[in-house]
Amino acid sequence: MPLAIVGARLLDGRSASPLDGDTLVVGEDGRIASIGRSRSAIPDGSTVLDAAGATVIPGLIDCHVHIGGAHERLEAAIARTYTESVGQMLKVGQAWLESGITTIRDAGGAPAGLKKLFAGGWPGPRLQVSVNPISITGGHGDGMSPSGVILDGDRPMTEIPPAIADGPDEVRKAVRAQIRAGADWIKTFSTGGVYSMMDGPGAVQFSVEELGVMVEEARLAGIHGVLAHAENAAGIRNALVAGVRSIEHGDGIDDEAIDLMLERDVPIVPTFLISYRMLEPELVEQGITPPWAVEKQQALMPDLDRNFRHAVERGVRVAMGTDGVRDDHLPRELKHMVDHGLSPLGALRAATIEAARLLDLADDLGTLEPGKIADLALVTGDPLTEPALWGDPARVVAVVQSGRVVADRR
Ligand SMILES: [Zn+2]
Repeated sequence: MPLAIVGARLLDGRSASPLDGDTLVVGEDGRIASIGRSRSAIPDGSTVLDAAGATVIPGLIDCHVHIGGAHERLEAAIARTYTESVGQMLKVGQAWLESGITTIRDAGGAPAGLKKLFAGGWPGPRLQVSVNPISITGGHGDGMSPSGVILDGDRPMTEIPPAIADGPDEVRKAVRAQIRAGADWIKTFSTGGVYSMMDGPGAVQFSVEELGVMVEEARLAGIHGVLAHAENAAGIRNALVAGVRSIEHGDGIDDEAIDLMLERDVPIVPTFLISYRMLEPELVEQGITPPWAVEKQQALMPDLDRNFRHAVERGVRVAMGTDGVRDDHLPRELKHMVDHGLSPLGALRAATIEAARLLDLADDLGTLEPGKIADLALVTGDPLTEPALWGDPARVVAVVQSGRVVADRR
């Protein structure tokens, strides 16, 4: 059945002024059929959604989530079976979709089978997966503790193949295993990070040669490419020289890295949400964010702010990513991006058209245009004058995916 949204303020990331029109019609094919002022374009029998007082925007796209992740105590994590994890992923996918996130790229942990479930009718965002991130031994993705306990949790080797690799040959094999398991992207760590026990954001991981093997294999297989967790400047530069498509976190970015990003048209995916979430008292007091991770994260915060602002000033593209897990409210990232120097329009662009470009979906998603897939979110008020609304889950009042109303709280 066709859908018509009437009385709306229509805003997409291309311009600060709303589109000329207050009526958006979606055809039976789930794509936007027309945008205009006349209600005469509404076909008979359409479902009419009155959006008075709301702004319609393209569905939000998060380029960095871990749908299988959780902020929880170790006892809970190690007691959970893979079957339970999959059940949780389905639940989280529905919650995120209903919060306005219509597309996600999982940056590690989600199996390709989940993508099939969402595409086949389970409520959830469109999904691109990177399966298991490629890490050096002792790197950010190595789940072995100093005492030899492997903290990766329960997961089948068929769907989530091992991904610790050292040297070009091992890297090639590990990448091919992810591709066999259905990876759309190869995720890697070109630096250490906050949540790992044995390294820190200052560590450089993988050589340019090893990173180049990942890029080559992704290209040969025809998948989207490589995304790199990259925190310090040297690791960011290595990843860029090797040819990755996005820099994740990027808190240590310097001018040389910025030059490369501008030259190669590579966006930064800043993930502010996780930086704030892990320092919330609730998580710190329970030890869910361990003391050593609190220390590392606190030390990063000034760099994160200063370097992101500088990158934005120099014109680096930004695509939204949160590093969000279960219980996280992903749209909050837009508020954080504005707090750290992006304009409200820039934040909206990052979460729509820029994210769609990064995920190679811009022909179908990311703006409000006839012919594009009708993935939409309705928010009360104006996100350009009141970006703080992104912090409040109640402000997203309805969500449409492929022309179907999947949430309506008006
Ligand atoms: Zn992540």
